[in-house]
Amino acid sequence: MSSTPRSDAPGHAEPARAPRSSFVVFGQPDIGEEEIAEVVDTLRSGWLGTGPKTKRFEAEFADYVGARHAIGVNSCTAALHLSLLALGVGPGDEVITTPMTFAATLNVILHVGARPVLVDIDPLTQNIDPENIESAITARTRAIIPVHMAGRPCDMDAIGDIAARRGLAVIEDAAHAIGASWRGRKIGSISPLTAFSFYVTKNLVTGEGGMVTTDDDALAEDLRVRSLHGLSRDAWKRYTDAGFQPYDVVMPGWKYNLTDIQSSLGIHQLHRVEQNLVRRTEIWQRYTAAFEGLSGIAVPLSVEDGVHARHLYSVLVDPLVQKRDALMQDLRQRNVGTGVHFVAAHLYSYFRSVLGYERGAFPHAEFISDRTISLPLSSKLTDGDVDDVIGAVSEAMSRKDG
Ligand SMILES: *Cc1c(COP(=O)(O)O)cnc(C)c1O
Repeated sequence: MSSTPRSDAPGHAEPARAPRSSFVVFGQPDIGEEEIAEVVDTLRSGWLGTGPKTKRFEAEFADYVGARHAIGVNSCTAALHLSLLALGVGPGDEVITTPMTFAATLNVILHVGARPVLVDIDPLTQNIDPENIESAITARTRAIIPVHMAGRPCDMDAIGDIAARRGLAVIEDAAHAIGASWRGRKIGSISPLTAFSFYVTKNLVTGEGGMVTTDDDALAEDLRVRSLHGLSRDAWKRYTDAGFQPYDVVMPGWKYNLTDIQSSLGIHQLHRVEQNLVRRTEIWQRYTAAFEGLSGIAVPLSVEDGVHARHLYSVLVDPLVQKRDALMQDLRQRNVGTGVHFVAAHLYSYFRSVLGYERGAFPHAEFISDRTISLPLSSKLTDGDVDDVIGAVSEAMSRKDG
């Protein structure tokens, strides 16, 4: 774990820096031999669909976050969609959320026929600002979907308090937040429903996959039935050695179940979440030490009141020093992959046309949207990779023709 001397002086332009020969993939998954062996075991078992490995993953996941139930599904999008359906949110209803999120958070609200009502973020945390929630509540409001942006926990006391006083449900979009906690409580154990993502770039990866956690027995049962065609209880067992079990169809459900191949990855990814968080935190601190003094770059805020899941390391680029999009191009040429999290949702053409928000509606989200860039962050990165990213960003930022 040695560092090259040049990384200790990131503010200094280093002229003759050798460019990287291989591309640093943004959000690279960290797959171990245990995952590979478990997938092979599943393939040999003959049971590829939802079965014993998914049951084990669900139980271990519930235990890890401290929830009574965890229901495996095939994406966080499915987890959010089923959560809204299970709460009975539908046409005529409004759901309050943040513009600083991925399209899926808004899409699912539209899928159930409800209207996404956006409120601006706190520009420092980039999370939904609880101060803005209350004034957006109407007689039609049914739920709030906070997003733990980049893995930074939202103020769940403030949000929970508003929800309790105004009789609203809370569904947490925890796509970034496995391993995060708020004031000593793990994300996944706080609100009635929490949705996680195991998409390829996330901290816990199953290829595609997701999980809903809840303490509510009736909601858990409803989510299970909805996630598998609306078949009655434990229908996944219908082809086991217990013999064919007759089942009923109790609602028009969805095909959202998590398979044993996916759960084979998830079981071992979960075992390493804490260990990977330690490495992600090291990389985070290395970036911050390097970029704190770099002109034109604003580093993310330190974390108070909780544990940050360190999903994304996003910095803000001062457009007077360098244009964000030009910087991304420049970094790509230097073999460094980056991302934008996020373009504020209301600026996309579809959401603009159906929701009617114009630029200017959410100034804090737009400020972030115009300036943010996410650098590679993965427990797979070596110190050398991290130094290469630091060197590339430092050089790109000091280019005078940008
Ligand atoms: C990735 C992501 C999702 C969607 O997750 P999938 O598992 O790909 O459906 C939802 N919300 C946020 C904030 C995300 O980053």
